[in-house]
Amino acid sequence: MADTVLALDDLTVRFRLRRGDLTAVDGVSFSIGRGQTFGLVGESGSGKSVTARAIMRLIPHPPGEIERGRILFEGDDILGKSDGEMRALRGRRIAMVFQEPMSALNPVFTVCEQISDALRNNLGLSRAEARERVIELLSMVGIPSPQRRVDSYVHEFSGGMRQRVMLAMALSCDPRFLIADEPTTALDVTIQATILELITGMIERFGMSLLFITHNLGVVAHACDRVGVMYASHIVELADRREIFARPQHPYTVGLLNSIPRLDGQARTLTPIAGSVCNMMRPPGGCKFHPRCSHAMDVCRREVPALKEIAPGHFAACHLHERAAA
Ligand code: SF4
Repeated sequence: MADTVLALDDLTVRFRLRRGDLTAVDGVSFSIGRGQTFGLVGESGSGKSVTARAIMRLIPHPPGEIERGRILFEGDDILGKSDGEMRALRGRRIAMVFQEPMSALNPVFTVCEQISDALRNNLGLSRAEARERVIELLSMVGIPSPQRRVDSYVHEFSGGMRQRVMLAMALSCDPRFLIADEPTTALDVTIQATILELITGMIERFGMSLLFITHNLGVVAHACDRVGVMYASHIVELADRREIFARPQHPYTVGLLNSIPRLDGQARTLTPIAGSVCNMMRPPGGCKFHPRCSHAMDVCRREVPALKEIAPGHFAACHLHERAAA
């Protein structure tokens, strides 16, 4: 793999809630190379967004805490950084695009005011230089009449245009790493495709690395080089995109693939995954997928399967493979 930009090692995030402890991310490890796009895929509540927020050190404490593990960004452990160092890192070297732009953009400031703030603080640009740069960024992300729209408020933009503003803001300080957390989920299908193309185009143009959080395997097929499948706080499968789609090895990944339509002309019946995601306050013992898995064995109810390399670069956490190997 190209040199590593981000490496997570045994990341574990726990929330101490009044009703009890909840482990949202449990022993997650993966790495992302320079210029690589990595898709983290799974159903809602699997721990994808908490993983992204942990990388940005945006886990609210209390009730959340990073219980163990390391997050290495360009070789430095993010968890050892001071709040000031993290502020300098966010935006300048790592940026994030959120699912709902309204939660990240401030409704009482114009687009120019919001984006130029980051430019002036991080890059030391003058007011006039920052304004010029904001117009350039808005034009780059495809906002029509940027000279006029630069003085608009966020509520004056449609959902797709807000997501473009969010992307312009994320790209403003030339970050090396972008995290996109379900950036197309709240948009209608045609706008989703446009925003997705815009993000992948920008990643390629600026040679950035991308962590793409999504529940949509179709998006992964389009946008990602490597894929991590998450279920109930664990990574259950990790492989290059082609390998995941051609030879999925974990029953959950197989279930996800069987539940999406194919566009290659092959007609087949869609099969949803039985049951629903487990209650994370009281997860089942052993493999957390066992109540939904048609291959479940006794050992699955007792022991958590380890993530093991089953082919070069292809990892899966399933007792079926341990049994086959034995
Ligand atoms: Fe199914 Fe067992 Fe594999 Fe879990 S470990 S996915 S229950 S076969």
